[in-house]
Amino acid sequence: MRCDYCGAQAKVYVPHQGIRLCENCFKKNVVSRVKEEVYRFNMLDSSDTVLMGISGGKDSFVLLDVLSRLHDPSKLIALTIIEGIPGYNRQDELDFVKKATMERGVEHIVVSFKDAVGLSLSELVNLGNKKRLGISACTFCGIIRRRIINYYARQLGASKTATAHNLDDEAQTLLINIFRGDTSRLVRQHPLAPVPSKKLVKRIKPLRKIYEWEAATYAYYSGYRFQSVECPYIIYQPTVRARIRRWMIMMEKEEPGIMLRLLNSFDEVVSQRLLSRSGSTLLLNECKNCREPTSPGREYCKTCELLMKIGVIKP
Ligand code: SF4
Ligand code: ZN
Ligand code: ZN
Repeated sequence: MRCDYCGAQAKVYVPHQGIRLCENCFKKNVVSRVKEEVYRFNMLDSSDTVLMGISGGKDSFVLLDVLSRLHDPSKLIALTIIEGIPGYNRQDELDFVKKATMERGVEHIVVSFKDAVGLSLSELVNLGNKKRLGISACTFCGIIRRRIINYYARQLGASKTATAHNLDDEAQTLLINIFRGDTSRLVRQHPLAPVPSKKLVKRIKPLRKIYEWEAATYAYYSGYRFQSVECPYIIYQPTVRARIRRWMIMMEKEEPGIMLRLLNSFDEVVSQRLLSRSGSTLLLNECKNCREPTSPGREYCKTCELLMKIGVIKP
């Protein structure tokens, strides 16, 4: 089988495009599709300093590699957050990220949950369990990670933050928001959604049109060393998301390109709505405790709400 682009031996079949590609052309294909998406939604300006959340997982490795090809590496900063999960946050993984950032000329910063909120993720989860609050590790993890990235972006003067969400993640989130009828989150998921607070740094998701399997393949061809240890809390991930994930993967096999078409339709419909309403952005209030932005109608931000529930801070 020959590569449809250059005639070399093909290694990958891309079902949603109906093409066979060699290793090199596959990587070029991914980079050019990310570039197209970045330009389509004006995600990056040449003057932007971008703080990237680089966990060390395959998607974040792809984000690091692709963005360092599309943007001046001296204007990129990689932030690794150590959650504090015994057996999962390992030194050799961290060393791998250090090496990968150094090779690409990208500054690398490491910060832990303990530095940010005084407790590791495991300690937070244990306190929640003792009080039988039923708060999953992934809830703590997602909320506090977002807080840390935004806080450090502001401190470091970054104009954008970039996360490594791929097409599968975005398609799942889109369906979850639709099923819940959460139209405000639905609109905020769009790349053109306005930033609702001066304290929030604009978040971009350059890999949002790259399938998870494509990110994994790109990472593999780029020398990524796959982690042998999975997060022990992964079994507690929300079941709705896990079910939607399984269903979408099955549908994708039957109808290649459905996730992509779903997100493209969303982009088109919601961007028209956003453009027609420009100027009437809802501005978020500040948390009564930490002065960070809150969700609409809330007195406290989600981080403070969680810390209050487990008794670490008082209202
Ligand atoms: Fe965090 Fe949950 Fe992912 Fe573990 S599985 S790293 S707790 S989001
Ligand atoms: Zn080729
Ligand atoms: Zn707060």
